[in-house]
Amino acid sequence: MAEKIYHVFGHKSPDTDTICSSIAYAELLKKMGKNAKPFRLGEINNETRFVLEKFNVEVPELLENAKDKDVVLIDHNSFEESAEGIEEARIHAIIDHHKMNFRYNEPITIITLPWGCTATIVATIYEHLGIEIDEKIAGLLLSAILSDTVIFKSPTTTEKDKEWAEKLAKICGIDDILAFGTEMFKHKSNLKDKTPREIILLDSKILTTSSGKKIRVSQVEVVDDTEILEKKEELLKEMEKLLEEENLFGILLLVTNIMKEGSTVLILAKDISLFEKAFGTEFKDNEAYLPGLMSRKKQVIPKIADI
Ligand code: MN
Ligand code: MN
Repeated sequence: MAEKIYHVFGHKSPDTDTICSSIAYAELLKKMGKNAKPFRLGEINNETRFVLEKFNVEVPELLENAKDKDVVLIDHNSFEESAEGIEEARIHAIIDHHKMNFRYNEPITIITLPWGCTATIVATIYEHLGIEIDEKIAGLLLSAILSDTVIFKSPTTTEKDKEWAEKLAKICGIDDILAFGTEMFKHKSNLKDKTPREIILLDSKILTTSSGKKIRVSQVEVVDDTEILEKKEELLKEMEKLLEEENLFGILLLVTNIMKEGSTVLILAKDISLFEKAFGTEFKDNEAYLPGLMSRKKQVIPKIADI
């Protein structure tokens, strides 16, 4: 029988945490004598590309289908966000920091903690197992933490994330964490060559509310939001198309300005008043600015989960 290969991957619309934590966890499995390989489920974004180049790490291969594969799910647990064929994969473990939406008919390893980043959990597992974190892995894990916590500005940030960022920065020789984080976000903000649809789908999740409504929530995090907000009409047009195509109840685009620490929310929905109630704000011309709104997971999803 062929040796088992653990396919380690994060969610669709991959972000820096999903990619870097997958690489780091696959490396950990290898160090434990297992056969493991990291994968991605889609195109990586400009920020992740910058990080992988900086630490001289290859872009993981694309996984087309997980059917009949041995898999480890990183930075996600719902099948909706996972690979094609996931229903017919053998799932061995989940390492994640999102709310659980998972059932499986066998006991497996599930490590989930309410921390700001999966990478913080992965670093803790390395430490727990007494496995040394090398320079490259430290660089990847640090980048993931800075990305997910929006350089510690997101309300999802915990002391654990900050502690590990400090430790990892020492290992990979980054002296100025904030400067490095800002450089990363400048790359992420580079949306010049992207179409409105690409911008909307770059970092996007679909949730189904308790009453069965499908809502797409997209987010772009930028250091300067002028350029993207100038494209408002084009973005709304594309959002309208998606609403139809995907039979959504609503679609939101959070344009998060990480310098101002707030988000402009563009919205299209069958009934906007439900969202106005949920957010306690008026959406004028399909738009509202919400100061302090940084996290989709903590400040948006819970508000609209019962719409
Ligand atoms: Mn993620
Ligand atoms: Mn994450």
